[in-house]
Amino acid sequence: MYLTICYVLENTLYINVTNRCTNRCSFCVRDKDCGIGDVNLWLEKEPTVEEMIEDIKRFNPQKYDEVVFCGYGEPTMRLDAVLACAKFIKENFDSKIRINTNGQANLFYGENVAPRFHGLIDVVSISLNAKNAEEYDELCKSIYGKESFQGLIDFAKACKKVVPEVVMSVVDVLPPEDIEACRKIAEDAGARLRVRDLIE
Ligand code: SF4
Repeated sequence: MYLTICYVLENTLYINVTNRCTNRCSFCVRDKDCGIGDVNLWLEKEPTVEEMIEDIKRFNPQKYDEVVFCGYGEPTMRLDAVLACAKFIKENFDSKIRINTNGQANLFYGENVAPRFHGLIDVVSISLNAKNAEEYDELCKSIYGKESFQGLIDFAKACKKVVPEVVMSVVDVLPPEDIEACRKIAEDAGARLRVRDLIE
């Protein structure tokens, strides 16, 4: 059975918590592959908190620069499990913790969940992907439609109130003027823009 929970890339410990997502991005690697490198990230079942903690202990977060909750999917869809593991890590290791997200958690839960990150998550990294709602919807096909774009911006602002660092990211295939428009959106939300490589 495939159950890759923790895996390591460039001295960062990643924790794969779910394959579910509220988006269907046209560039999503899940549609093209079954993992990253030779790590299979399709989960035949989602790991329990106990299974996640056992694997986290086995890897020892202390050895890595950062611990990142990701998925081969959207980690905030398992918010309780993510925060239970983050609490365990904070109580037992001196680790910086990041969550990589599509920023739709408040839409998913119907309330502001950002305050739950306080003291547990050090960096929230939100995929911005586009400079406006129409282009985001075209690219990411959220179940929330065009509303998702303002939703993720509002989520960035809510996170900024409770976590030390909020990052919004775009891929480097966007035209420079679009990247600048995205930079303004991020800065207006109190976030730093990160221009990342497209994963082929
Ligand atoms: S938000 Fe991430 S996991 Fe979800 S569809 Fe887009 S690229 Fe894939």
